[in-house]
Amino acid sequence: MTTPPAAGLPAPPPLSPHRDALFLDLDGTLAAIRPRPGEVAIDPPMRAALRAASAALSQRVAVVSGRALDDVARLVDMPDLCLAGIHGLDRRLATGELRRATPSAGLERARAELAALGRDEPRLFVEDKGLGIAVHFRLAPDLAAVAERRAREIAGRHGLLLQPGKMVFEIRDGGADKGSALRDFMAAPPFAGARPIFVGDDHTDEAGFAAAAALGGHGVLVGEPRATAAAHRLPDLAAVEAWLAAVGDAG
Ligand SMILES: [Mg+2]
Repeated sequence: MTTPPAAGLPAPPPLSPHRDALFLDLDGTLAAIRPRPGEVAIDPPMRAALRAASAALSQRVAVVSGRALDDVARLVDMPDLCLAGIHGLDRRLATGELRRATPSAGLERARAELAALGRDEPRLFVEDKGLGIAVHFRLAPDLAAVAERRAREIAGRHGLLLQPGKMVFEIRDGGADKGSALRDFMAAPPFAGARPIFVGDDHTDEAGFAAAAALGGHGVLVGEPRATAAAHRLPDLAAVEAWLAAVGDAG
């Protein structure tokens, strides 16, 4: 799939309380990226803006992250919000019901090999998220090529998906991405029939942008311009917060 350059993408229009459903990435969208994933937190003003948006949109809001579902729930800390973890493999629905996938045998074998990689290269941070395992090289950018080669070998050997992200390679079972997470949510209340808006900063969010556009909505890229399927752009987290907080003003 080719995507046009993002230069000159306009800011998104105000959210429409009657029409829109909102899907948001977490890291780099609702919370600033930190050297280690465990250091990330959503600031109180951003959480307040998210809560206001959820109320204005009649709960048609979901956070869709590559993190483990329990980790997303802890960071978001809003019990009634819909969530997706591991790019949609795990979801918390509007009813509170949890839909969890089961790791494949291949993922279990890869888990052991990736743990060994973390011991061989202590400057790589191997994060076991249950349904996915991430090899972070943010603390050692010089190991990017090593991280990619080893992660690619292991993913290939066990028939798993290799997902590149910002300073990370992630290995997981196939079958879900942020686009499928959006489509799954949109198939049921309270989302069904709404116009989906997907907001995110990373390459994994492109599937969400494309899925939103296919259902009559659009993507909102957060950060610097790049080739993207998003139709709109917000430059940083402060702009995301202001846009969320303004939802009630749209009428
Ligand atoms: Mg992100």
